[in-house]
Amino acid sequence: MRVKIIASIGPSSKSPEVLREFYRIGVRCFRINMAHGDQAFWSDIVKAIRDLEKVMGDRLCLIGDLPGPSIRLGEFKEFSFKKGSKVVFSNSGDGVPLRDKEFFEIAEEGDIIMLDDGRVMLEVIASNWDRVEAIAITDGVLKPGKGLTIKGKEPASQIIRDRDFEAIRFSVENKFTYLGISHVRNAEDLRIVRETINKLGGRQRLLAKIENASAVKNIEQIVRSSDGVVIARGDLGMNLGLEEVPIVQRKILEICHRLGKPAIVATQILESMTSSPVPTRAEVNDLYVAVTQGADAIMLTGETAVGLYPVEAVRWARKVIERAEREPGVTRDSLFSVMERGVDSERDRYSYGIYRLSESLEAPLVILDREIDMALAISVYKPSHKIYLLTDEDDIYRQSHILWGVEPVYIHSDNGIEAREAVTKHIKETLRKSGIERTVYSRVIYVNNIEKKRKIEIFESLE
Ligand code: PGA
Ligand code: MN
Repeated sequence: MRVKIIASIGPSSKSPEVLREFYRIGVRCFRINMAHGDQAFWSDIVKAIRDLEKVMGDRLCLIGDLPGPSIRLGEFKEFSFKKGSKVVFSNSGDGVPLRDKEFFEIAEEGDIIMLDDGRVMLEVIASNWDRVEAIAITDGVLKPGKGLTIKGKEPASQIIRDRDFEAIRFSVENKFTYLGISHVRNAEDLRIVRETINKLGGRQRLLAKIENASAVKNIEQIVRSSDGVVIARGDLGMNLGLEEVPIVQRKILEICHRLGKPAIVATQILESMTSSPVPTRAEVNDLYVAVTQGADAIMLTGETAVGLYPVEAVRWARKVIERAEREPGVTRDSLFSVMERGVDSERDRYSYGIYRLSESLEAPLVILDREIDMALAISVYKPSHKIYLLTDEDDIYRQSHILWGVEPVYIHSDNGIEAREAVTKHIKETLRKSGIERTVYSRVIYVNNIEKKRKIEIFESLE
């Protein structure tokens, strides 16, 4: 698989058995959504992932999503209601309480309130400073702690509130690889989070979750200031309208390719598998489209966190991705957006040259590096052959788990000969495991980029 699968971990998947199965199918990147659960729950998951690392002898990628400036319901006993019934929100004890008081400030008569990716909707009929009355447009259930969206409105709260700060501290203490910045609105939001991480001594990289109108408007500055982007189609669909989602997805992917940043397509990838062991045709097609558009990774959310068929969902994701990738030139269109930026900078000229060399020699790339930039810069061209990233830097190894076509190999030396042996061994192993009966590549392009050396060598034979 060139496109990576990221699995959100929750009650359905935090057991050692399910995690091991995910790993066997090819998942190397796991997400904890810290908008749900408490520290004890997050700790359980982190421990299970660290145990998995020990069992598999590997280094994995952990993404922690901050709750972000969203509006959430408070604590109450869950209840269901019918279309047409009246629901009262209030923090004075006579209605559904809100964790975020801002709701009462921004809700106005005529507003549409949405929950659960838009499956549940209510219309506001009266509102004052501590009470909002609404009529249900759909049947639905209200559960404590759930996020809600008021169509067309965004909370103005700061990017880091108490809960976010706790989540950042937890991620730094537990050495998460990436932080998912939920409901980010502009580059300034990212700067604030980065500064907070640095103050806590963390080195986490930032994935900007694009989920509201401001983020779409400020997309260029956000992509430039981030280390990658998540196209969070759940909230995007509620905030912009469902019909906008495919257009926004395509545009964001193009911008990420042009600016050389990894892009992840998330939410409702195989949604029906939350309760069914097989996906729908439409879901399979959607995933195929994400592959053709050059997504680096796809992120399963509810399917793996709370669904009934988490392992089947990952298996299907892999099956669809692998089949798509067997089609020659399946990611060809995504190359146009990369080429659009031209090949101007030193880094671009170099990475483009290496990519071309790999194509014309029909040889995989082996990059020896302690930074992620070069592997990333080459990966955006989507070469036909694999990119092996040899590194002795733990962080870099983990970060590469979201990059298209990059396979990290952990080594202990920057000595060319040993690196060559490590790679030979790794490639042979991989071929043996996949049961493919063929000789190893006759040629390998070897790039030593330690301290930006940019030294290229061609190994004529791996035997
Ligand atoms: P969430 O983000 O699962 O944290 O809400 C994904 C989305 O909104 O699509
Ligand atoms: Mn979201």
